[in-house]
Order: sequence, then C-alpha cells, then structure tokens
Amino acid sequence: MLTTCGASDSFPYQDATGLACGIIENATRLILEKQVSEKVSCHQCGVILKDIDVRGHVGGHILRSLWGVGEDKLRQQVDSILPCGFCGHTSCSIDLLSLSARTLQSHSSCSRSHKFSYGPATKFSKNTPSTNVPLFCTLCPLNPSSKKHPVFWKYNMRHHIKDYHPHKWNSLLDEPSGLDPALSEKFSISPQEYSALGITRTPGALITNEIPQTRTTTTTKSKAKRKATSQPEAGPSKSKKCGS
Ligand SMILES: [Zn+2]
Ligand SMILES: [Zn+2]
Ligand SMILES: [Zn+2]
Repeated sequence: MLTTCGASDSFPYQDATGLACGIIENATRLILEKQVSEKVSCHQCGVILKDIDVRGHVGGHILRSLWGVGEDKLRQQVDSILPCGFCGHTSCSIDLLSLSARTLQSHSSCSRSHKFSYGPATKFSKNTPSTNVPLFCTLCPLNPSSKKHPVFWKYNMRHHIKDYHPHKWNSLLDEPSGLDPALSEKFSISPQEYSALGITRTPGALITNEIPQTRTTTTTKSKAKRKATSQPEAGPSKSKKCGS
C-alpha cells in the first residue's frame, strides 16, 4: 500500500524521512495524520475547526437551539428536526457499530463525521463539554434484520421520547419519566454541561449561580426555588416532528 510521500531518492519505498511507505501501518498512520490535520468551517457559525472537533462544537449549537438560546450572527441555524450531531442538518443517518462487547463506534453518512472515542465522549469535560453521542433507544423495538434498536443522537432523544414514547413523558414537568435507569443515565445532561454550553435554565433547575453535583432532575429544592423566584422556565424549542 502506498500513500502520499515527500520527494525522495528512494520513493516509493521510503519518504524523505526514511519512513517505509510500503508498510501498511506507516501508510495508515500518514493517512490518519492527514485526516486529523484537515480543517472545516462550521456550517452554523463559520468558525474554523479541526475535523475531529466538529462533534463537540456542533453539539453546542444543537443544545442551544433546543433550549431556545439565541446565538447572534449565525450563518444558519441547526435543523429543528433530529439534527445530525456532526453538521446540524437533518438528512444524515446515524448508527452505532459494536466493535467489541464494550466498544461502540458511530457510523454516519455525514460528510463531516469523524471517529471519536465513544466512552470518553459520553462524559463531560471542560475541553469537550458536549456529550452528544449516538444512543440506542431501547424503548423502540429491535429491528428484525439488524437485531439492533434504532439509534438517535443524545440531544434528539427528548423529542424522540416525547413524540414516540409518550407513556414515558411527563407533560407537566416537560421531562421524560419512568425511564429504565440505564437509559436515564445515558440520556441525562449534567448541569455542568448545560452551563458550559451556555444554557442557564432547564425544566429541572436554574443552572447558573448554583450548580448541583448530580445530574439535572426536578427536585423539591429546585421546585421551591422556581416558586420563590417566580421565574419562567425556558423550554426546548418545539420540533415539528421527530422520528427516524
Ligand atoms: Zn459553530
Ligand atoms: Zn451531518
Ligand atoms: Zn425510541
């Protein structure tokens, strides 16, 4: 296997640095290095991104759109119906592949899709606060042919559950309820994540000023605080339709 090499007397067997280009793992490394060095312009805000940072960046646009947080000078909004976690548009497919019993990898038709380590991406970090990853919806039936549950981006699960699993939706709280603990844990978004991505209010709590240590849920304390302050809740923007 050959790949692009610099000028060299010994090309195509070695590049100018002496790297043996005919060895697949070296060629693969060069290809990967080329891939990670590519830059793309965010469809929404135009900022130039490393292609491997797209998911984390666009996740912020999606979550802010979901909660109606305005962003000035966007070139375009993310689509309101099941936005792709890589580009913010509706049309891209998303799937999860099981590489091993414990390792998942996303697979998408999006031209901006990139590989990422699934496990770390599910956890908030200051550098990559968005945990928008594809999730299996275990409330949906298994696909008869693939034997898998349908896959949705995490930030799209609110609308999916609300529209397709209304028995798991509490209309008064405008939140899912009665979810299996495993799904609930995967679905949850921490106050730190909301705060880092510019969302100050959710149905469960005010995020600013007082950041609890556990995930956002509607607690007696937060209810009391809302009642005391009489501040209106910010709800997610309504989508016209959700579903695959
Ligand atoms: Zn952007
Ligand atoms: Zn896409
Ligand atoms: Zn479902």
